[in-house]
Amino acid sequence: MTKSYDKAIALFRDKYVSLTEQGVKISSKDSHWLNLWKVIDKVLKVITFGRMNSFLKEFTTTFGKNIDFPYGWRPYMATERSYVVLCHEEVHVNQYLKLGLGNAKIGMLVMGFLYLFVFLPVVGAWFRYYFEREAYLEGIKAWKRLGYNSVIDNYVDTLAEPSYVWAWPFKRSIKKWFEKELRK
Ligand SMILES: [Zn+2]
Repeated sequence: MTKSYDKAIALFRDKYVSLTEQGVKISSKDSHWLNLWKVIDKVLKVITFGRMNSFLKEFTTTFGKNIDFPYGWRPYMATERSYVVLCHEEVHVNQYLKLGLGNAKIGMLVMGFLYLFVFLPVVGAWFRYYFEREAYLEGIKAWKRLGYNSVIDNYVDTLAEPSYVWAWPFKRSIKKWFEKELRK
């Protein structure tokens, strides 16, 4: 195993423990009896004309204090990417807590509404873009801690394209924001 892999696993373990101690549940999208992720997956497929088809198998999603990794993922399978994803999702947990003034359930209502509908559900979902860019920025920093440089354009594309239902289609301004933040 490489040095960065060992470092990632150690960092992953620390973060996993500290999040769990804060009451965060880290699980996977296939580990729920009532699987609402399947419903969301279907909705995403319809509204993106089938282009967002990896929600269950590739994307980790956080709702309140629940972080759900993709189908089939288990903690013992953690990789470098799992650590980066956990850093990204931790940002979302904190966003829920902040918007709910410390209460994740209230945060789920407030953030859920902003995330889905403001300003528009598609093409111009300012808050979805706003919440995600903060989380992706943390992901880029996490890759850096492991010794990897990220290609900003990949994140720009993700935020502008079907993955987030065309949250913010203005690629130039997204790129500028990341570049500015990473210079700090
Ligand atoms: Zn996210």
